[in-house]
Amino acid sequence: MRILTQSTGLVRRARDSLLAQDCLLCGAESGNTILCPACADDLPRLPEQRCPRCALPSPQGEHCGRCLSKPPHYDATLAAFRYDFPADKLIQSFKYAHRLAVGRYFGERLAGLARSCDADLIVPLPLHVERLRERGFNQALELARPVGKARGWPIAAELCSRARNTPAQAGLPWRERGKNMRGAFRCNADLSGKRIVLVDDVMTTGASLDECAGTLKLHGATKVTLLVVARALPK
Ligand SMILES: [Zn+2]
Ligand SMILES: [Zn+2]
Repeated sequence: MRILTQSTGLVRRARDSLLAQDCLLCGAESGNTILCPACADDLPRLPEQRCPRCALPSPQGEHCGRCLSKPPHYDATLAAFRYDFPADKLIQSFKYAHRLAVGRYFGERLAGLARSCDADLIVPLPLHVERLRERGFNQALELARPVGKARGWPIAAELCSRARNTPAQAGLPWRERGKNMRGAFRCNADLSGKRIVLVDDVMTTGASLDECAGTLKLHGATKVTLLVVARALPK
């Protein structure tokens, strides 16, 4: 019996040391996750007082002037972090160097954030097929998986698609981005009465997310909540 207990202990220790890793940011031991608690606490946060609709800073957390004067198609934005160092580098390592463990980590943070909302479906922001071929995976879908699992929401990855391959938003000035996205998405379903959570990694101006939310609403969705890892603040 004692031998058995000892050997189970050994197996457990061996498994824990196989799973144990070093924090991606500081190299300290971080157990079975990618960041140690100190680095996780240090990730850049958004200000407490922000617009519930677009997640940009606003006094007393009221709806901001921009959302009041020209309401976007989406109804709310949940963002885990501010798009700044080192969250930006982590997201880039997930997207461009295929560090899927980073995507899983952020997906789990999104699952935590999503506890505050109700939905019928989760939609990952679609990538154009050519972009998908280049990258090999859709980062939004990888982020959506832990959320769908935690909340029991079906992931509708095929519901929407990119109608055309728009030039990369990153290369355009902020005010050009809305124009660049017009008519960029197609949807093939009746979404009458559905509340949808729309997932992506980074929200910069929100032009692509807004365009996609508009397409979902055109097809009957009653509520679209954006769920993003990081929100960029205008400089
Ligand atoms: Zn660390
Ligand atoms: Zn706003």
